[in-house]
Parts: sequence; C-alpha cells; structure tokens
Amino acid sequence: MSAYRPETRAVHLPQPPVEGSRPIAVPLYQTSGFVFDDPAVMADAMSRPDGSFVYGRYGNPTVRSLEEAVADLEGGAAAIATGSGMGAISTVLLGLLKPGDHLIAQQALYGGTAAMINELAARFGIEVGFVPENDPDALRAAVRPETRLVYLETIANPMGRVADLPGMCAAARELGVPVAVDNTFATPMLCRPIEHGADIVLHSTTKYLSGHTDVVGGLAVFADDALHRKTWHFAIELGASADPFAAWLTLRGLQTLALRMERHCANTRLLATRLAEHPAVAAVHWPGLPSHPSYELAGKLLPDFGGVLAFDLTGGRAAGERFMRSVRLALLAPSLGGVETLVLHPATTSHRALPAEELARHGIGEGTVRIAVGIEHPEDLWADIEQALT
Ligand SMILES: *Cc1c(COP(=O)(O)O)cnc(C)c1O
Repeated sequence: MSAYRPETRAVHLPQPPVEGSRPIAVPLYQTSGFVFDDPAVMADAMSRPDGSFVYGRYGNPTVRSLEEAVADLEGGAAAIATGSGMGAISTVLLGLLKPGDHLIAQQALYGGTAAMINELAARFGIEVGFVPENDPDALRAAVRPETRLVYLETIANPMGRVADLPGMCAAARELGVPVAVDNTFATPMLCRPIEHGADIVLHSTTKYLSGHTDVVGGLAVFADDALHRKTWHFAIELGASADPFAAWLTLRGLQTLALRMERHCANTRLLATRLAEHPAVAAVHWPGLPSHPSYELAGKLLPDFGGVLAFDLTGGRAAGERFMRSVRLALLAPSLGGVETLVLHPATTSHRALPAEELARHGIGEGTVRIAVGIEHPEDLWADIEQALT
C-alpha cells in the first residue's frame, strides 16, 4: 500500500485475514457491497438468493445467519429478513397477489396488517374475504377459484384469540391454497406453524425474537425453496431488506429466546390469575385461562400461551386512563416482546379516534388495558399493577 499517497491509503483500509481460528459470535458485516475477483461469480451472485454476496439489498452474511437461524427454528427451507414486520408482510402479500386475486384473512388481525389488506382491496383490485380464525368450514365456504392466499395469526392482538392452524391449514391444502401465518406472538418456542401445514411464517422480529426493545425488523420463512426464490426476486425489487446491525442485534436476542419466553409466559400466567380475582377487573383475556374462548384449542396447540394479556376494568374509559397514570414500574409504551413490561390503553391511545361501537368491533372495550409482560420479578410486577388498580 505504501506506493499510494495518504489520501488513498486512508480510504483502502487493511483487512487482516482471520486464519486458524474463527469468531465465536456471528460477525457484523456492516458493508453495503462485496468485492469480486471474477465477473462471472458476480453475475451468478446477482441471480440467486443462495450464492455469493454482492449487494446489501440482495443479501448479507449477518442477515443470512439470521435468516438461516429462524428458518431452522421454524422448520422451514429458507427465509427473507426485512426492515420491519410490515416489510415482511407487505413483501409476501404484494409478491404473491395480483389484481383480480382473492385473499382470505382471519377477522382479528394486527392493525397494520388490516390496514395493508384494506389498501390492497381499495387500490390494487385484490378481493378480500374475512373468516373466523377457528372455522375451517367457513374457510371452505369462502374459497373462490381466484383465491391465492389464506392469512392467519397464531395468537391475535390484543385479545389472545388462537387460530386453529391444523384445521385451517388442512382445509386450505384440500383447496390448493397456500397459508401464511403471522407467528410473532407465539414465536417458534410455542408454535411452529409449518408443522401444522403452513407455507409461509411471518415475524415482526421487533418483538420477542430480538426481545430487547432496540430493533425494528421482520422476517418471512418459507416451507419450500421455490416459493422462497420467487418471493426473493420480488423482495429485492421492493427493497424492504434488513440492515446488518439490526440483524446482528436480533441474532443476539435470539440466543436467549427460549429462556425469555419461559419467563414471559410464567409471569403472564401469574398476573392473569391474580387480575381475574381482582374486584376492579371485569374480565381477563389470555388463552391460558379457562374463561378464554380459545382455551381448549390453545391447550392442544401450544405448550404455553405467550406474554400478552388484556383485561377490562369495571370503571371503563376513566379507569383505564387512571391505571395508565398510576403504573410506576410498567411503562406506558407501544410494542411488545421486550424484557420490560409495557402497558397500553387502546381507547385513549392507539385506538382513540374510534367511537365505542367501532372499538367493540375490534373486540376492545373502553376499559380494556393491554399488558405486554416483561421478564421482571413477577411479584414486583403484581405489586405495581395492584397499587395502580387501587
Ligand atoms: C408488531 C407487529 C407487526 C408489525 O411489525 P413491525 O415490526 O412493527 O413492522 C405485525 N404483526 C404483529 C402480530 C405484530 O405484533
């Protein structure tokens, strides 16, 4: 390098080879592109998702480590990591559907997904039908010759309804329609939808997979290589690709996913049980409670029931607002799946624009509070919630 002037040497940094050993942790390849010695290898890399790395939007070794790790945990063939959960959902919906196609989705959907589906219907001429998440006969009745996709969520937000994945996937298979499942709330530690017949599994890795409230990211896992390859070609055009640093943080979170999920579920069980006995609480919505409409199905499908619960305060909207002002340890914030406990009162925050009847259509009452339960000591959490209730 000494033949070059300082201006040039400062640009072309030394990269010492790592030989005879290798890093323990997955390295962060924070680079937007890759250098080639052979133009033929470069051309090959640009044409397929499993070749050499060429450009960050097409692939990156840190991002591929995350894709392979989650594809493996979900029992899929391959995955595409994206810049957000909505990036994964929009990549799959836009990649698989065209004008005139018909999509069948479950009624209770994540808000962003519901908005995206309405947009597809209004602006792109995609027909949409809605069915309950646990009714394979309703799915059979809703299918048309143009139906191209069935869209489900393992555990829906915020009321915790659980989809009948085996029944719905079997019905879709008879009809020859692929199924996509948003598995964000369950994670592969509680449910692996591909084992129940799903073709695509979607994640907001923002939530439990990264788990530390410091990343926005998403991921789509494909049961089959052909569907992955087809969607990959579209994904690089759409440009929803994941950033390597976000992927690196998510890999770090993923290593403790099993331990965190155990604690999230155990803490939620304790809070759900105590809330159900509290006089200020009219109802608790968590599929691990016998009073929940999905209890029986959830017991067959899941080993435990996740870290999100909702409950209705007897005092309605005013009580909900008071509860939000009174919590000290739990934080008033959006999102879920991180180590910290977060609370949300939809009627005065995320859904404040909706009148009571519209809220009710989303299954949300004026006094409904959602808790995304963290991994703190459960007695500290209960003490905080109990003082905020009184
Ligand atoms: C958060 C969330 C999404 C959207 O993910 P982002 O990372 O916020 O884009 C999709 N589905 C579910 C179930 C979610 O909780």
